[in-house]
Amino acid sequence: MIKLTSFAGKKVAVFGLGASGRVSAEALIAGGAAVAAWDDQPASRDKAAAQGLPLVDLSVTDLKGFDSLVLAPGVPLTHPQPHWIVSKAREAGVEIIGDIELFCRERRAIAPKSPFVAITGTNGKSTTTALIAHLFATFGYRVEIGGNIGTPILSLSPPAPEIVHVIECSSFQIDLAPTLDPWVGVLLNVTPDHLDRHGTMQNYAAIKERLVARADVAVVAIDDAVTLAVAERLRERRKPGTSVSVTRPQIEDGIILDGTRLVRRVQGRSLTIADLAGIPSLRGTHNGQNAAAAVAALGTHGFHLDLVTKGLETFPGLPHRLEEIGHRGKVLFINDSKATNADAAEKALLSLDDIYWIVGGRAKEGGIVPLRPLFSKVVKAYLVGEASDLFASTIGDAIPYEFCGTLDVAVDRATHDAERAATDAPIVLLSPACASFDQFPDFEKRGDRFRELVVAKLAEQPMA
Ligand code: ADP
Repeated sequence: MIKLTSFAGKKVAVFGLGASGRVSAEALIAGGAAVAAWDDQPASRDKAAAQGLPLVDLSVTDLKGFDSLVLAPGVPLTHPQPHWIVSKAREAGVEIIGDIELFCRERRAIAPKSPFVAITGTNGKSTTTALIAHLFATFGYRVEIGGNIGTPILSLSPPAPEIVHVIECSSFQIDLAPTLDPWVGVLLNVTPDHLDRHGTMQNYAAIKERLVARADVAVVAIDDAVTLAVAERLRERRKPGTSVSVTRPQIEDGIILDGTRLVRRVQGRSLTIADLAGIPSLRGTHNGQNAAAAVAALGTHGFHLDLVTKGLETFPGLPHRLEEIGHRGKVLFINDSKATNADAAEKALLSLDDIYWIVGGRAKEGGIVPLRPLFSKVVKAYLVGEASDLFASTIGDAIPYEFCGTLDVAVDRATHDAERAATDAPIVLLSPACASFDQFPDFEKRGDRFRELVVAKLAEQPMA
């Protein structure tokens, strides 16, 4: 855990006592701050009390005299409307910050030059965070990974010159980090998301931009209109950095994806870095963007092509994102349970061929209508969950489909059909394009069940 020595003697309110809030309170107390912790939920308060954290009912406490309010990222700051604790802090003139801001202030106080890589984007954050950590580890660095990807940042080791902190940042976390100043900032893409919490696209984009605006080095993938404009503004300010693109192979300088090859462009000349073909964890153009950004984040290390290639080739990938489970005979099984909407499932369909597609769950708005142009990649669809009737009507007679009800039945049916395919490399793919909540508590449990069913199948003999 990081002792927040820079807050010694300060009076701090901590609101929202989930995992990161509780660690923030502990880190502040360990650093010498006086903390008043609170949460709307009695269950969260009980957990905090069991840990010995000092609970104070902030709803009946005057916040004047507090130096800061540390807010959990899940608590509404601006939209749909500010939470009561936010309004109360504003009225009392108390600054509102989050755990990433606490880390940044401590880093500036104790190890301002320490390697701190921060990653954001609408999609691909976790994959890119994990890949950057893996690449630095390949180069022999001690690496610590945290933030939105799971481990609260303040439960990591304190910033130090010999440790690379690789931190995934959500827009909510950036919104609570007014002086976020990483060593390397990585911005992957910005498309409409979480607008219920950020109000407008303009506000959401401005928050994402903050992650690279104060970085020593900015890595920006320039494949959408928002990030392109961000890169342009950084260039005007002569901010050091690297542009990355999977759609603009002709950029003068930066890292691009040319087919499956990662290529460095230097003053218009091309130097191949590595070929991503055959790296199962980095399938698809979207992962090309993640890989290009990750290599750019390595800075000059990125010129050591043998180590970069070794790092890319040994990247295990993350569970539930185009995760290869294994082969039974010629059939490959892939778990993409994280695809909880059509946009994410689109990436899977684009990245694969000869697909026996397990799809369904609780449908999102628009269902799978946007995927119609990709139905030709699917041999047959296996429909599960609440969305079955809706998806059957979207598919119509474009491709064969079967009502399976549950994941268990779908895995059986898809395996049966794929094993009898006339083609060489059929793929049974779970990419639901739906939330899981009709049949599973979350996408992880759904993907875990798929993996369990497939592993059982792999233990059986394939069809002769
Ligand atoms: P995040 O942490 O931002 O949610 P993940 O790395 O967990 O991102 O990937 C989640 C899903 O987003 C993937 O399953 C894939 O469908 C999609 N995705 C991943 N990387 C990208 C990218 N660079 N651009 C667009 N979509 C992506």
